[in-house]
Amino acid sequence: MSAPQDPSSKTRIAALVNYYREMGIYDFYRRPTEGLAPLLAERTAEPAEFESMPQSAPPKAMSSASSLPIIEDKPAALKLVRDDIGECTRCRLHKGRTNLVFGVGNVNADIMFVGEGPGADEDAQGEPFVGRAGQLLNNMISAMGLKREDVYIANVVKCRPPSNRTPEKDECDTCSPFLMRQIEIIQPKVIVALGATAAKNLLAINDSMASLRGRWYDFRGAKLAVTYHPAYLLRDPRQKAEAWKDLQMVMKYLGLKPPAKKPE
Ligand code: URA
Repeated sequence: MSAPQDPSSKTRIAALVNYYREMGIYDFYRRPTEGLAPLLAERTAEPAEFESMPQSAPPKAMSSASSLPIIEDKPAALKLVRDDIGECTRCRLHKGRTNLVFGVGNVNADIMFVGEGPGADEDAQGEPFVGRAGQLLNNMISAMGLKREDVYIANVVKCRPPSNRTPEKDECDTCSPFLMRQIEIIQPKVIVALGATAAKNLLAINDSMASLRGRWYDFRGAKLAVTYHPAYLLRDPRQKAEAWKDLQMVMKYLGLKPPAKKPE
């Protein structure tokens, strides 16, 4: 029989269960206590990073962030999520998979980029955004004055759709709870949704890119911005200027400056 829990642990567990229910996760199963529990720290005060948040940050984002548990060992927490995914066969996309593409980057990143799903290169290498679209994403990240290693990158679906088709709704619905858990662990200040599939799935809004872009959304304690998918920008480079406007909005919020131009 399990040990009785003290009232404060019960309250914390109830808050966590409610949080997962809000995300549409209802099934729980028990792990040995060396699992998640030691990764969660007691929240005694607001984390220091909130003190440095811009004044314009809405109280809603701050209060919902403060209701999230502080994850002390983020790599271990992400590993639990990866272990839960396992050799996934939950949807039909597993049939064409070479490698499951979980996510990559700095677990303490301020910015998380979310794409649609792996392509051929990502499927071959098991890492998101490593093909041509990934090269352009790297350039976009550099233009923001950051390195790829500074950010976290993941996708809505973790297995490559056949012939790179858009993932279907049931595939996204099956996979996105894992993305939500990654977001919950990373707790980025800003999420950048790359393209319509990421934006629509994260925000549950079925709108055109034109109306989704150019504004902030509050998303689970983070701010969320929508921009064009790098693969779309490769097809229509004239839209790069528009995407740059979106990234500048993110940079302004985070106080990032573009790198100084190299002398000719
Ligand atoms: N396109 C995506 O949406 N994600 C990747 O990882 C690669 C290409």
